Amino acid sequence: MEIERHEYDVVVIGAGGAGLRAAIETRQAGLRTAVVCKSLFGKAHTVMAEGGIAASMGNVNSRDNWQVHFRDTMRGGKFLNNWRMAELHAREAPQRVWELETYGALFDRTPDGRISQRNFGGHEYPRLAHVGDRTGLELIRTLQQKVVSLQQEDHAEFGDYEARLKVFQECTVTELLKDGSAVSGAFGYWRESGRFVLFDAPAVILATGGIGKSFKVTSNSWEYTGDGHALALRAGASLINMEFVQFHPTGMVWPPSVKGILVTESVRGDGGVLRNSEGSRFMFDYIPEVFKDNYADNEAEADRWYDNPEDNRRPPELLPRDEVARAINNEVKEGRGSPHGGVFLDVATRLPAETIVKRLPSMHHQFKELADVDITAESMEVGPTCHYVMGGVEVDPDTAASRVPGLFAAGEVAGGMHGSNRLGGNSLSDLLVFGRRAGTGAADYVRGLPGRPSITQSDVDAAAQRAADPFNPVEGKSENPYALHSELQQAMNDLVGIIRRGEEMRQALDRLRELVARAEHLEVEGNRQFNPGWHLAIDLRNMLLVSECVARAALLRTESRGGHTRDDHPAMDAQWRRKLLVCQQSGDGIEVTEQPQVPMRPDLLELFKQEELRKYYTEEELADVLAKEL
Ligand code: FAD
Repeated sequence: MEIERHEYDVVVIGAGGAGLRAAIETRQAGLRTAVVCKSLFGKAHTVMAEGGIAASMGNVNSRDNWQVHFRDTMRGGKFLNNWRMAELHAREAPQRVWELETYGALFDRTPDGRISQRNFGGHEYPRLAHVGDRTGLELIRTLQQKVVSLQQEDHAEFGDYEARLKVFQECTVTELLKDGSAVSGAFGYWRESGRFVLFDAPAVILATGGIGKSFKVTSNSWEYTGDGHALALRAGASLINMEFVQFHPTGMVWPPSVKGILVTESVRGDGGVLRNSEGSRFMFDYIPEVFKDNYADNEAEADRWYDNPEDNRRPPELLPRDEVARAINNEVKEGRGSPHGGVFLDVATRLPAETIVKRLPSMHHQFKELADVDITAESMEVGPTCHYVMGGVEVDPDTAASRVPGLFAAGEVAGGMHGSNRLGGNSLSDLLVFGRRAGTGAADYVRGLPGRPSITQSDVDAAAQRAADPFNPVEGKSENPYALHSELQQAMNDLVGIIRRGEEMRQALDRLRELVARAEHLEVEGNRQFNPGWHLAIDLRNMLLVSECVARAALLRTESRGGHTRDDHPAMDAQWRRKLLVCQQSGDGIEVTEQPQVPMRPDLLELFKQEELRKYYTEEELADVLAKEL
């Protein structure tokens, strides 16, 4: 069978913020770059981002700097973060935001004309640069504009816009190809025609985003099926932190057709508060010991903070997301929920209507259109929704290289940066910081190669065969991809969701094994021309593999930390902070092994007070730290 074939120096899989920033870098390094995305160009999760991008520019509070951002990020992740990634991120985020303005972005301004920054959960100072509540749109628009401007330069030089940077949209990658241990290309299909396509390239950058579509209630859209996570596993790379899945505290709960759609944290950042059915601001009852010093324990102080953050502590509605999501879950469980199983988010009584419409235009529109609720006059009903995966490909912090030579990962598909819980706003900055670094890492790698790796025909045939399998099921054993997907989502939501128990996760693993066996018999009707049932059948393989990583790692981690809450092990355990759980493919299943955390560099450790470290570190580790200081 003749397969369409393209040769590049670098293939970037994914055209969200991470993929585009990486592609700009490799193209600027002079490498021929392909960007492949399964959605339309411009339709990625990045475009949906609302609240903003975190960067310690210090425009609204001059006390902010990279060290404070680093501290907040480590606290948010409960000290499980890869500290080097958190350091690079905090140091480089401001440059990446300013750079965006050189590409043509225009952020909202302070009265004196600087980039404005807003408050968000877990960030000590106003830190999120934003464009109303449509920041992701501006980010994607600007990165696309930069791509076009580079293409115009190439046209001037080579007479061909796509000489060194070409976008392949609505094209899904299903397999990575290797020459020995190193990457040699990627195999995929055009969604519209169903025809196969081969990319021959010595370096591949994964920028495919997250895994939310494995869960029933989610803010994520159809592309988030864990493809990059699964591609990496099958190629021999490792995933870390997969037990940590972020449930955003505020998704819509009503009507059922929109359940899970995000309600941005900016609502709380700008003054919105959470109330239960008794009208009480319940978050004051849920401030955990580790955060007691930084959060107000009464309404008067919390309200004063908006105007005078120097002399007051923050409102508890702005605790990190995991804390707020668990609190909401508990209020509902104890019978103090709203009529449709959430709680009330009230901004109407807190801000003038014109301010709400100006600062939160998308939320105003979203509730009016989808739920017939006017948020300038009524409360919203909200509840937790699966939002973000902290876990992902284990990468070298500086170069974004995975364990597989030639394979790089950046953005949500990469693990480590956010530890056990991501702070809002830290994803958009992560995409730019590590997208750029992945681009540099891949460019250096390609330049250092003695020759191009090759692709073998038998690997291509096997990839084509595997992709076409759902058209050739074993007789009498037909399984429907939509039914299987819905069973997977229900199992993950019920058994590996926001609150977890050992027994339920064992049940989940049994269910997953059963679903994996049934998925061998997926059957789709029709032909390969635009066939969503077939696309889902292919995506399901990835969702099942990645769900197994989440369930296995979550079962092993016998503590509660960030986006992993165990009813049967409710406390955080300092011994577990020292360990990462590493997932690798073994046969057709997943093997999880423990790996020690690399100790934090002393100059970074010194940014924290000993009393704070005591909350996370073992006595033995602390003694070690103190001995080094002496
Ligand atoms: P994405 O932007 O999702 O891009 C993934 C790309 O990979 C897409 O182009 C997709 O088509 C492609 N792809 C996937 N699989 C394949 C495949 N097999 N073959 C080819 N292409 C593939 N974060 C913040 O920091 N601030 C916010 O205010 C914020 N708000 C958010 C609001 C919402 C509603 C959501 C859902 C998320 C929000 N986030 C926010 C999180 C943030 O938007 C995402 O984590 C981030 O955009 C992920 O970017 P990415 O580049 O890694 O992936």
